[in-house]
Amino acid sequence: ETTPAPNFIRNQVRDEIAGGQVTKIVTRFPPEPNGFLHIGHAKSICLNFGLAEQLGGECHLRFDDTNPAKEEQAYIDAIKEDVSWLGFEWAGPVRFASDYFDQLYAWAQHLIREGKAYVDDLSPDEIREYRGTLTEPGKPSPYRERSAEENLDLLERMRNGEFGEGEKVLRAKIDMASPNINLRDPILYRIRHAHHHQTGDKWKIYPSYDFTHGQSDAIEGITHSICTLEFEDHRPLYEWFLNNLPVPAKPRQIEFARLNLDYTLTSKRKLKLLVDEQIVDGWDDPRMPTISGMRRRGYTAASIRKFCEMIGVTRSDGGLVDIAMLTHAIRSDLEDNAPRAMCVMKPLKVVLTNVPADHEEVYEVPGHPAREDMPMRKVPFGRELYIEQNDFMEDAPKKFFRLAPGKEVRLRNSYVIRCDEVIKDDAGEIVELRCSVDFDTLGKNPEGRKVKGVIHWVSAAHGVPMEVRLYDNLFMVEQPDRDKDVDFLEHLNPESLVVCEAIGEPSLASAAPEDRFQFERVGYFCADRHASTAEHLVFNRTVGLKDSWAK
Ligand code: ATP
Ligand code: MG
Ligand code: MG
Repeated sequence: ETTPAPNFIRNQVRDEIAGGQVTKIVTRFPPEPNGFLHIGHAKSICLNFGLAEQLGGECHLRFDDTNPAKEEQAYIDAIKEDVSWLGFEWAGPVRFASDYFDQLYAWAQHLIREGKAYVDDLSPDEIREYRGTLTEPGKPSPYRERSAEENLDLLERMRNGEFGEGEKVLRAKIDMASPNINLRDPILYRIRHAHHHQTGDKWKIYPSYDFTHGQSDAIEGITHSICTLEFEDHRPLYEWFLNNLPVPAKPRQIEFARLNLDYTLTSKRKLKLLVDEQIVDGWDDPRMPTISGMRRRGYTAASIRKFCEMIGVTRSDGGLVDIAMLTHAIRSDLEDNAPRAMCVMKPLKVVLTNVPADHEEVYEVPGHPAREDMPMRKVPFGRELYIEQNDFMEDAPKKFFRLAPGKEVRLRNSYVIRCDEVIKDDAGEIVELRCSVDFDTLGKNPEGRKVKGVIHWVSAAHGVPMEVRLYDNLFMVEQPDRDKDVDFLEHLNPESLVVCEAIGEPSLASAAPEDRFQFERVGYFCADRHASTAEHLVFNRTVGLKDSWAK
């Protein structure tokens, strides 16, 4: 049905394997453990693990943990769980860039001995100033010509904690006039007197991303180091380190366009703010675009993987992806795989006056209209029912094919009923309908007239009360963080969560956390992983029924 979108990296690697330049591909997914993974990361995960899976290679999970102040064990645990839940297996142990700190330190000493690195005493502000701009070359630091001996000694004393944060850095000595600012003596080490989740208090200096990433790739024998386009300008530096250090392998960096999804933020920093300010109920709030939030909302791993196939992989920025494509992916999965049930969101009581109070009748209904492998469900019928408030209209227009005074409608899987009387309370609110059943309409059309409408219902005596959480987009505009002068919180959707006290058919009583259903005529729902219990069922709306994605 959906043609696979182009994936230029997969095509390229296939050619390399066919041409014999590559025998076995080794990729890595390198998250920083400073937040939960989001749908953008899913694109990178599906790309890196997908290539390994499809082309007979392997993919490592490596935490890029060079910034201890922002990192936490809880994020490490969550990231591992998300990758596994998506259905991927990393090759070998979980790896950490911090596993290589000793080696990186030895390579820093190597660069100093070769005259290719120096300790700089300029302040962070001075370093920025000396670095120049796109139109102006940088100028050398007065500390640039220190001797190797002095640099080695200073670096060791930095490591031992003799200097305060910001007092000194180690820089590569490359080219202060390079048109590529990344090559104007980039920083290799900063002083940070911080406790590290993996290495404890061993280090008082931490390597930069640039000094860490490519060398970690080389140590692990990564063949293709795939990253987003922001790193294109860092590639000459990535290669400079590999060419100037005695590394065991020469990985290649390949860039691709990051995923940007409309109505969605894909910045960990901004998502963290939503969590910290308690605007959402944690990182896995079902409105969050995090993998764990989407899981809790009811997304399946298969649907996220399918979405990532659908968007493809290109080198040019593809702009904003329509969120309807993502909802299409989950909707089509649930359409095929979620059992059906009837559930009334806003109940209106119906009394069937010609059905005796002790009447017993139970329908055996398919769990899914096209899936004979799914068990049948039992749907009891009785004198008192609930229907949806908006399936009744007192002053109905001609085209309203649901229930109205004197009008008929079919109860799904059951009889045709007619509304005979509307009961209101003192305030004029409709509280009950009195209806009568045409007993000659079960499984067949009524005599001499057409009844067009079919509505869902639940037997009052058998229905199970449940909490239903109707989720919608968290933001009301396509690009909540587009305008730098407007706080993205201004665009929050005040109706991103509406809670209903609903009544479901009895087959729902045994729903386990994460069980998914189509509530007929309403949408797709998933029992909440954390809150739903047998005593208090809680369902999250994953997505509505209507598909607005146009290919
Ligand atoms: P943030 O920008 O919010 O700090 P990050 O991109 O730095 O997030 P990392 O943990 O470094 O987060 O990301 C791990 C991997 O996921 C990186 O290789 C990164 O390129 C990739 N990635 C992150 N966001 C996206 C995205 N929106 N689309 C595709 N890949 C992404
Ligand atoms: Mg990063
Ligand atoms: Mg980033």
